[in-house]
Amino acid sequence: MARMPAAQWIGPTANLYPGGMVEHRGLVLHIQDGTEAGSESWFKDPSSEASAHFLNPKSGGLRQLVDTDDAAWTEMAGNRHWVSIENEGLGGDSLTPSQIENCAQLLAWLHGEYGIQVQATDDPAGTGVIGHGDGGAAWGGHYDCPGDAVLAQRPQILARAQQILGQPAPAPSPSPAPKPAGPAWPGEYLRVQAPMLHDGNVQTWQQHMHDRGWNIAVDGWYGPASANICRRFQADSSAHGWPLDNDGVVGPATWAATWNRPIS
Ligand SMILES: [Zn+2]
Repeated sequence: MARMPAAQWIGPTANLYPGGMVEHRGLVLHIQDGTEAGSESWFKDPSSEASAHFLNPKSGGLRQLVDTDDAAWTEMAGNRHWVSIENEGLGGDSLTPSQIENCAQLLAWLHGEYGIQVQATDDPAGTGVIGHGDGGAAWGGHYDCPGDAVLAQRPQILARAQQILGQPAPAPSPSPAPKPAGPAWPGEYLRVQAPMLHDGNVQTWQQHMHDRGWNIAVDGWYGPASANICRRFQADSSAHGWPLDNDGVVGPATWAATWNRPIS
């Protein structure tokens, strides 16, 4: 279960895929094209078949409707990969200062929770803060959402999130949760691409896969052979109670499983 402590919980809604997130690439900005109250009741109405993780009123704090372990029904093909925030306002509106602050607080929390990068992106296969329209037809063809005025405010959101993250960390709690083993996910998706990905993150992952007993070259190149081993590892994990998307991509979940899943 993942709820943002600073957000007011306003769930539940039936409009979601329980446990449906396969990864958390970033944050999708939306505009409600309506009021906060109207959007909340719409997202709680099963007949709408719509929802969002977070609702951001023009004034006041952030409100969470869908747990970020569940997939909200916001941007179709992006639903299982992206966290969504619906900002109160009409198409063409800018965000209020309070909405910018809420977006920044959310981004800072997502960075800590999932390693989401504090950066702008226009790539549905990327990571960071993206606009709904950037997902194109696969995300429902909402090209005017959230609108150019909101997208132009992304630098302010990013700058504020960085400021929040730069503040000294709060004192550690008396009994901190056990830290997962292995290095933190480096924030880069290891996938087959052109030109072929070749770096130290790939080599780190390959080395540990090799140490786990996989017959894999430790050469830093992420080509079809590595992707094939990755898929077999993902399938094996899913078969042993550690479900992973079988996509041949080393994202945060697969990276974590590489170090934390017991060898079977
Ligand atoms: Zn939208």
